[in-house]
Amino acid sequence: MLKKMKFATKTIHAGQKPDKSTGAIMTPIYQTSTYIQESPGKHNGYEYSRTGNPTRSALERNIAGLESGKYGLCFGSGLAAIDAIIKLLNPGDEVISTNDLYGGSYRIFTKIFAKYNIKFHFVDMSGLNNISKLISSKTKMLWTETPTNPMLNIVDISALSKVAKKHDLIFVVDNTFATPYLQRPIEHGADIVMHSLTKYMGGHSDVVMGAIVCNDDDIAEKLYFIQNSCGAVPGPMDSFLVLRGIKTLHVRMQRHCDNAKEIAEFLNKHPKIQTVYYPGLTTHKNHEIAKLQMKDFGGMMSFSLKGDSLDDAIKIVSNTHFFTLAESLGGVESLCGHPATMTHAAIPIEERLKSGVTDSLIRLSVGIEDVDDLIYDLKSSLD
Ligand SMILES: *Cc1c(COP(=O)(O)O)cnc(C)c1O
Repeated sequence: MLKKMKFATKTIHAGQKPDKSTGAIMTPIYQTSTYIQESPGKHNGYEYSRTGNPTRSALERNIAGLESGKYGLCFGSGLAAIDAIIKLLNPGDEVISTNDLYGGSYRIFTKIFAKYNIKFHFVDMSGLNNISKLISSKTKMLWTETPTNPMLNIVDISALSKVAKKHDLIFVVDNTFATPYLQRPIEHGADIVMHSLTKYMGGHSDVVMGAIVCNDDDIAEKLYFIQNSCGAVPGPMDSFLVLRGIKTLHVRMQRHCDNAKEIAEFLNKHPKIQTVYYPGLTTHKNHEIAKLQMKDFGGMMSFSLKGDSLDDAIKIVSNTHFFTLAESLGGVESLCGHPATMTHAAIPIEERLKSGVTDSLIRLSVGIEDVDDLIYDLKSSLD
């Protein structure tokens, strides 16, 4: 049944059934910590809400369906999901990760797990040689993100999965930026897909949550054990909100993509702009890979200014009206950010410049407002 549904049908129906006790179409918010047992151990499948909760289960089945995986697990945040994945490893193990990484992922790897003697290597994943050179008997996991933040680089998921298979590594893809509407890494050979549901999946900037999807029975069993043992689970109210958000994921994502494409083209022609980083532009260095593995090119982009003036960039992000200056991304409303002074302020300047995060770089999370208003907003603040 599940396999036959097209994506837009899955967002609404995958893993969903009317509530058994009342017939309610929507899975209710099961705001309960515990469940009655007829006799010890005899119950309806739920015994304690850390271990399992029906609202959370409905969301977990739905996300698994969307990502073409067998198992879905939800966590209190994207970082809690990352935390659970790294706990699959043992002291002495090594991870090879992309160097173009979400800042919070970099922080948990280097500031938390490094203490437990798990070693992380950060490399440019556009060259497979860079990866092969680092692989040893200690290497256990390959970690990537695509598109990356804020430079919108695209990593070839199929090529990486071949490297992972050859060396028996667990291959993890953070699919937060693309969502399963645009790309499903498991179909390209990934072992684990990780999400910050806080972003496009929830989609309304009203909840913080994370998820993991996988297909392998053994990995799934270990992850369930970690989820229940460590306990970083989301509550039923938040699970309900994300489930509700996902019902319009396909409609929202397509509008994000359509708006972003028009804005990228507008910016690309603007005389004050140096470079637009958007995988949908044919001039983007990874445009061909993006075309192969993604359905469309997403709602995120960055651009730099001619002359690279920090002050000009700050003036622009402070003057926009519909593009609200804020962290985060993926909500229905448009946001803008200035990586050099916001998300990437803690990175030493040489390293920041090396990865392309120049002083004037501005990142946009293009929302689903009317694109004419969004372009007018950017045009006015650029002038
Ligand atoms: C936001 C984000 C995370 C972390 O998720 P939280 O829900 O904020 O904990 C991880 N990866 C990417 C790519 C993100 O954008």
